[in-house]
Amino acid sequence: MTSDPITPGGHSVFHDTMADMTYPEIEHAARKGAVALWGLGVIEQHGPHLPLATDVYVPAAILRGARSMLAARGIESVIVPPFYWGVNHVTGGFAGSFVVRPAVMIELMTDVFLSLKKDGFTRLFCLSGHGDALHNRTLLDGVRQGSRAAGIEGRMVVKRAAIARLGFDPADPHLAIGDAVASAGGNHLDVHAGDWETSLVWAAFPEVVRDQVLPQLQPTNLVQADLLEWRKGGEHALRTTPLGYFGDPAGASRERGRELLQREAEAVAGAIASALGATAAA
Ligand SMILES: [Zn+2]
Repeated sequence: MTSDPITPGGHSVFHDTMADMTYPEIEHAARKGAVALWGLGVIEQHGPHLPLATDVYVPAAILRGARSMLAARGIESVIVPPFYWGVNHVTGGFAGSFVVRPAVMIELMTDVFLSLKKDGFTRLFCLSGHGDALHNRTLLDGVRQGSRAAGIEGRMVVKRAAIARLGFDPADPHLAIGDAVASAGGNHLDVHAGDWETSLVWAAFPEVVRDQVLPQLQPTNLVQADLLEWRKGGEHALRTTPLGYFGDPAGASRERGRELLQREAEAVAGAIASALGATAAA
């Protein structure tokens, strides 16, 4: 067992979130001016070795780390219970990938913003656990609508490197921009349920990784043209990645996963702290 906030042992995604707090504790946190942190993932196929909730588990671990790093900087925070009914366009053709309409996600997000405002929270940072472009654009639309409806200052934490692909404006006041964390190198792409993602889940939630099958999984050795085809979704994704993963899951390592989670958490905490600094200075 460890007391490390990122990998505390056990696999509850409620650990260290509002869901495990009592209502007087919530009132107290709001009175102290705590900011709210929210991971928004999806239930989606992640190959034969990772669970459907991978994109919920990863941001849960990153936000636990970010919360303790923010506390060390004197910034109080609470973690909102994870959102997992996100949008699957790319892998929607696989079993286990739930297909939710963007409008439903935006409306549900808005109600969560309104609930947080009712309880006295005024700032909310949202972190996506899922790479699908439509999910991320929907998330930012939800942040915009929720912020407007609730009178909350909402921001989506996003990596600088993802902004162009998603078509976001770097000057958008609803973004909190963080630095990229380098992942596995090489000519072949590691996009989905590969080395990077398997390492992260294995480090934080080892109980849910089918590590016995990892050595049998061959690397996909796919390149940029395959990625463009895969991103068309449906039959295209089924054909490009018949086993569901895009990358090299057998290359994963728990130790590297721990280091990567630490660096991801630092990047998120840094983006939030600088957004709060920008707010204070404005
Ligand atoms: Zn994923």
